Amino acid sequence: AKDPVRVLVTGAAGQIGYALVPMIARGIMLGPDQPVILHMLDIPPATESLNGVKMELTDAAFPLLKGVVATTDVAEACKDVNIAVMVGGFPRKEGMERKDVMSKNVSIYKAQASALEQHAAKDVKVLVVANPANTNALILKEFAPSIPEKNITCLTRLDHNRALGQVAERLNVPVSTVKNVIIWGNHSSSQYPDVNHAVIDSPDGEKAVRDAVSDDAWLDGEFIKVVQQRGAAIIKARKLSSALSAASSACDHIRDWVLGTPKGSWVSMGVYSDGSYNVPPGIIYSYPVTCANGDWTIVQGLSIDEKSRAKLDATADELVEEKALAYTCISE
Ligand code: NDP
Repeated sequence: AKDPVRVLVTGAAGQIGYALVPMIARGIMLGPDQPVILHMLDIPPATESLNGVKMELTDAAFPLLKGVVATTDVAEACKDVNIAVMVGGFPRKEGMERKDVMSKNVSIYKAQASALEQHAAKDVKVLVVANPANTNALILKEFAPSIPEKNITCLTRLDHNRALGQVAERLNVPVSTVKNVIIWGNHSSSQYPDVNHAVIDSPDGEKAVRDAVSDDAWLDGEFIKVVQQRGAAIIKARKLSSALSAASSACDHIRDWVLGTPKGSWVSMGVYSDGSYNVPPGIIYSYPVTCANGDWTIVQGLSIDEKSRAKLDATADELVEEKALAYTCISE
């Protein structure tokens, strides 16, 4: 039998955490033959509710779940973890300035970076979900210099999956037949959902999504808007933000990173930019990537038309600005 993998979930008593931990314990993140030990961190006001989640995990009797650590102590939570899913963060409340939210998250991510650096496994893989996800991941990278920068990522897979879902609904085909959409840039409404390289499988082979949909106005307008604003639409409908889809995509992100992407397909991940596609280096930017042997690689050589170029640049500009804001908070 395999040794258990230790998976940290921060903000584990929250909405996404509540949807995520059972998925991990059922093998949806790391596979049906991979035992796991769950490390759940939350802040002191959430202690009781965190303990309730721990009780439910016991009651669910998950065969793959070999242990649970539920704590408000960051060092204990990070001890020897192999995977860290960072869901805890300071939410933006009405009337709050962007800078105040940033400042709160800078201090949270700074502290958690140090704890991971000191206590996690040396090759820990980190996924940041909490917003502003790209910039929180960047802060984490800055304050955990001994963790390889390739191991620090943020979640844009939910946006990627939303784009697949919209195309599948429009064409009335199973979502599993659609692939290779791309989310470029920030996990915010400036992101660019790009279908220029996306394809669908059909009985007569692969077909470009643009040809299959055959409505460029929709693809360049409504489709992009719906994907960018899907989070807000869910809040409006549910009076709560998306949780099951966020949890499910976090599992997809880690699973593909660890176990690899299928041949001929790529996924979107927020990764430390190396300047690919003329994106400024030094920001966490969402790119199309393939994964093998536990590493991601940015898909190279895709053609970028003029309209797309402007969108790639606009979302990069926003990230450069967020980075500057984060640095102001760090130095204060
Ligand atoms: P959720 O579990 O709903 O969301 C957690 C974080 O994920 C938020 O920052 C949220 O951003 C972000 N997020 C990113 N993508 C998505 C998405 N597509 N849909 C929804 N959320 C997304 O929040 P809860 O308030 O239920 O839980 C948060 C937990 O974190 C609580 O248990 C709380 O105690 C803990 N916490 C920990 C802190 C710390 O570690 N120091 C500080 C504050 C809270 P957005 O807010 O923009 O929706």
